[in-house]
Amino acid sequence: MEKRTPNKSTISLEKNSLKFLSLGKEFYSKIKTQPLENNFLIHQNKELADKLGIDLSADEFLSVFSGETKYDNVDPISTVYAGHQFGYFVPQLGDGRSCLIGEKNGYEISLKGAGMTPYSRAGDGRAVLRSSIREYLCSQAMKGLGIASTDVLSLVGSTTEVYREKIEPGAIVTRVAKSHIRFGHFEYFSSKGDKANLEKLLNFTIDHYFSELGSDNRYSEFFNQVAKLTAEMIAHWQAVGFSHGVMNTDNMSILGLTLDYGPFGFMEEYDPNFVCNHTDHQGRYAFDQQPNVALWNLMRLADALSPFIKTQDIKNGLEFYEKTMIKTYSKLMRNKFGIDSPEDTDKDLISQFLKIMFDLKLDYTNTFLSLAKIDKVNPKSKEHEIWIKEYCDRVNLSNPEVIDLINSSNPKYILRNYTAEVAIREAEDNHNYNEISQLFDILSKPFELHSGAEKYQKEAPLWARSLQVSCSS
Ligand code: AMP
Ligand code: MG
Repeated sequence: MEKRTPNKSTISLEKNSLKFLSLGKEFYSKIKTQPLENNFLIHQNKELADKLGIDLSADEFLSVFSGETKYDNVDPISTVYAGHQFGYFVPQLGDGRSCLIGEKNGYEISLKGAGMTPYSRAGDGRAVLRSSIREYLCSQAMKGLGIASTDVLSLVGSTTEVYREKIEPGAIVTRVAKSHIRFGHFEYFSSKGDKANLEKLLNFTIDHYFSELGSDNRYSEFFNQVAKLTAEMIAHWQAVGFSHGVMNTDNMSILGLTLDYGPFGFMEEYDPNFVCNHTDHQGRYAFDQQPNVALWNLMRLADALSPFIKTQDIKNGLEFYEKTMIKTYSKLMRNKFGIDSPEDTDKDLISQFLKIMFDLKLDYTNTFLSLAKIDKVNPKSKEHEIWIKEYCDRVNLSNPEVIDLINSSNPKYILRNYTAEVAIREAEDNHNYNEISQLFDILSKPFELHSGAEKYQKEAPLWARSLQVSCSS
């Protein structure tokens, strides 16, 4: 049984209270973090630390972001929410292993893996190093790709033993976002029939994060904005080939941020039915289902908000989601092909290309990237040959602007499961964290060519083709 270490005295960084506290006690529980044993800093996102104005000595930094020392004299809190998990409503979930420790420059700071909370249910409040490395690297990869996501500030390792399918070391990822509010926060108060607190949460969210909205019909406008941000996030996921894996409503950010990285995966061989989470037997969260799932999730949010929003406005908001998703996705896809001004036939050109990629089991990222030089590529089938000709008729590959558009719309690097796995193996087996640093830097700028980084562009070697990622984290 792990010893509960009391929080040490505070490191006062800035007199800036955590806004979430103003919501009141029904929204959270104060907790005491349980620091890991023999903490050490694995990686720090210096650019973000500078942006936030976090200026601490190495010791202080580790002490705060390992949960040993309170930040800004704030008692850490874990928030309560509900959620639809794989289609079924769970009336109470909550931050079972994460807590907000403060706020800096308007950004909430959250530790994941710092111990049990009143919402841990059967869990141990911990996160293993393996999944923490994946979350850390993927969050940064998303930022590099221009996809809205929670940020990461640091990754702390330890010798604490965490029990999963086997014993693994525990870790803490510090996440940063303007807000970590989820659809599930609204569902929680709605399902309890607590209209007053539901309205309080709505006003809090709008006042702090959607302050540009007018005062007339603000709840409907808010729903529209959430629909829009969600649509843009999903369109980006689909264009880059990202699969979240656990799109439960408790993992849906009200700010349209990619949130809670678990068994996610970037598609390698193109397959619209790609299911990255091998425990998702029915493929509920398969890659090509994501746009519909987000719509379904928005409907659940709409159910929760229905006392405050007219049915017609909800319908309009959901339609707005669909239109924005399609419009954003279409534009992102056209850009990947170097197409600046759309034509009616583009849709067919794009869907034929996807079909060829599927038939030939081509790598999604690398095949797109090769479009800039496709006139020099040896066709892999008759269909491929015909398509290349049609594409070269449509797109002028000798125009540098076209080439620039292709290169700036297609990443050279994504976080492949096996590259993450290599970083994990090095960290777990050899206590070598260089691979994490290297990947972090490359993924921060995935559209640039990094010298000596060819190996990160390669498709999975044979040993890694059968890597499976589960919910266990
Ligand atoms: P997830 O599927 O990871 O989004 O988690 C669903 C719920 O389970 C959330 O309320 C999490 O906080 C909680 N949870 C997941 N893993 C743990 C853990 N090891 N200890 C406590 N709670 C957990
Ligand atoms: Mg979650």
